[in-house]
Amino acid sequence: MKSIVILGDGMSDRPQVQLGGRTPLQATPTPHMDVVARRGRLGTFATIPQGMPLGSAVANLSVFGYDPRRTFQGRGVLEAASLGVELNPGDVAMRVNLLALNEGGTIRNHHAGHISSEESAPLIETLQAKLGGVENHPERPVTFHMGISYRHVLVFRGGWASAAFSSAPPHDHVGESVADLMWTANSSEPEAVAAQERLRELFAQSRALLAEHPVNVARRARGVDEAMVIWPWSPGGKPSMNTLDELFGISGAVISAVDLVRGLGRLAGCEVIQVEGATGLWDTNYEGKVAAALDALQEKDFVYLHLEATDEASHAQDLDLKMKCIEYLDGRVVGPVLAGLRERGIEAVVSILPDHPTFVSDLGKHGDDPVPVCIWDPRCPADEQTTYDEVACAAGGLGNLAGNEFIRMALGR
Ligand SMILES: [Zn+2]
Repeated sequence: MKSIVILGDGMSDRPQVQLGGRTPLQATPTPHMDVVARRGRLGTFATIPQGMPLGSAVANLSVFGYDPRRTFQGRGVLEAASLGVELNPGDVAMRVNLLALNEGGTIRNHHAGHISSEESAPLIETLQAKLGGVENHPERPVTFHMGISYRHVLVFRGGWASAAFSSAPPHDHVGESVADLMWTANSSEPEAVAAQERLRELFAQSRALLAEHPVNVARRARGVDEAMVIWPWSPGGKPSMNTLDELFGISGAVISAVDLVRGLGRLAGCEVIQVEGATGLWDTNYEGKVAAALDALQEKDFVYLHLEATDEASHAQDLDLKMKCIEYLDGRVVGPVLAGLRERGIEAVVSILPDHPTFVSDLGKHGDDPVPVCIWDPRCPADEQTTYDEVACAAGGLGNLAGNEFIRMALGR
């Protein structure tokens, strides 16, 4: 039996006044998801352990069956994995943003005016050439790795402890002074102090190097925000994770526009499939993603099909758009997947869930409410529920799933 998991990022929510007390999932017609609900079994799943960061990294680890308390090491590690950057024991990977600053040294934005990858590539090249590698710092070398737009990766090579210092996520501190947000050692241990000093030094050096870089000179002339400094954050070391092959003896593929999810897929030993036109937004290439998922499922045992649009619409606090994204997920993903499985004669367990709720009317924030889960394993009798939404799932036959129960059932184990 094969397996496909369809994940609508941030899809679940709370009752909305404008919807007469219904949630977006309840209020949006979802005939295809309801087919899966009628044939399958429903339940709930608390994907974010208490006190852990409310986000896709932790939540998707849970969905894959990994215990986030043991495996979550920050974003840097997942994004490094997504870029194919190898980490050795003792290396610490950090996500590094390019920031635009205001004149007084406050953060203007955390994305350098959404700088393009074409423009950020030469900046990262310069940073690596002038600051990276043992040639520039034999004792405490770092390496810079090109990602996408303003999102890149910095790796401290060897001998660092990721828990030794604290760092601030820049998107949470727009408008604040960088001087107040500097990396800070968590103890007076020499290692911790050295990490703090090295990060502050890299910050200052990057500022000097980038100020007159031709890319920034050109951006200044165009009147758009410059990539003025680097901002490394969310440090972590390589987590010890068994692959799905090691755990279950299966092969898998991940399809997602989001680097965190792609990185997680790689760490789980899955093939990461790129789909042309996958944007992570409502206008993504749904048809292309579905076709890629069905093709992959002919080869592999397991496909993880991740759609980001519902989360972005929730962050934008746009209820109509969120419902539109749910409608698209239903009509342009779930429906065609079911039809494709039938046409191709593929027997598969079909599962639908979000990774976490995102509250469209609570400032577009992530939450840790248990998520609604639907699993249709053709070999198992259905429960009594007939629609897929938060309320039906809370009353579903699977009850509250925990640990790796979801992935086991989704894999038909
Ligand atoms: Zn998410």
